[in-house]
Amino acid sequence: MTPCGFCKLTRRARAPVRGPRSGRRLWTYLAMFASVDRVMDLEGKVALVTGAARGIGRAIAIGLAHAGCDVAVSDIAPGQDAITVYPLGSEAELAVTAGQIRRLGRKCTAFQADVTSAADVEAMLQQIEERLGGLDILVANAGIIMAGPIASMSEAQWDRIFAVNVKGVFLCAQAAIPRLAKRGGGRIVNIASVAGKTGRAGLAAYCASKAAVISMTQSMAEELGPAGIAVNAICPGYLKTAMFTQVLNPLLAQLYHAPEEEVFEKFVQRQTFLGRGQSPEDIAEATVYLCRAENVTGITLTVAGGGEVH
Ligand code: NAP
Repeated sequence: MTPCGFCKLTRRARAPVRGPRSGRRLWTYLAMFASVDRVMDLEGKVALVTGAARGIGRAIAIGLAHAGCDVAVSDIAPGQDAITVYPLGSEAELAVTAGQIRRLGRKCTAFQADVTSAADVEAMLQQIEERLGGLDILVANAGIIMAGPIASMSEAQWDRIFAVNVKGVFLCAQAAIPRLAKRGGGRIVNIASVAGKTGRAGLAAYCASKAAVISMTQSMAEELGPAGIAVNAICPGYLKTAMFTQVLNPLLAQLYHAPEEEVFEKFVQRQTFLGRGQSPEDIAEATVYLCRAENVTGITLTVAGGGEVH
């Protein structure tokens, strides 16, 4: 049987080292294998995480700080959104995130900025450059959900979901790209959702907005590859954050004829292969992986315990 290329390669790599020519060849092989697990060192990198007052955004910001990054965190100021039907996070919650990052010995700067405002986003990016010296990583996490049949959803609710979930990702990327390029490249991680993979009744606007994030991620990955910027999306599954407990639990309670406090567990047991929901830390871990990875771009990484496998 003729040996395959890989067998030949490993056999040669194991061959005894004889003289300077073989030594050079061995060194080439070692360098090649070493490059396979080369990852971006996050020590001293600067990251921005939007929607970081609580939930997934807070866990990602802390996860990146643990990995060595200085982190800018942002969230919408109270009163900037009159349409979303559940209470948004507060200045105090954003300060808690910032405090946790600083306690890890990392620099942190916190902003109140609405991701749907180009002026807010540009001002924030300028200040990040001034205070933290530049930008290497953008995590576009800010997002909202509103549920309701498409026949009765208000135009204002539809527009607000698209403004935060889609335009917000676009505006943050647009402001971040020249800054990432200035540092020779970087990472963009967009937080989409399993809802962007399969449309669901009662969630048309949210599902469509997250499908747009996945598609935008793929376009950006191709466009920004030559500048050394890797762009990926994460599809979180089912997390007991404000978004779920305030908006989805009441719907599921009706569907499952179960009390709101119990319905999340029933739902994830049925919906996922692993029989459990995800934690913000699960999503943070996936984000840190995508920020470190040197040769991964344009993918959608689903973290849903098997709740969505496409
Ligand atoms: P969350 O606790 O409600 O956090 C969302 C964050 O986005 C909040 O901090 C929110 O601000 C912020 N935000 C909303 N509008 C904003 C705006 N215009 N400008 C800046 N920030 C804004 O929900 P989460 O579960 O952590 O969600 C984080 C991301 O994960 C979202 O993109 C969501 O779609 C996605 N996701 C969540 C789940 C889940 O099961 N929970 C599943 C899949 C995907 P406030 O803090 O002021 O509310």
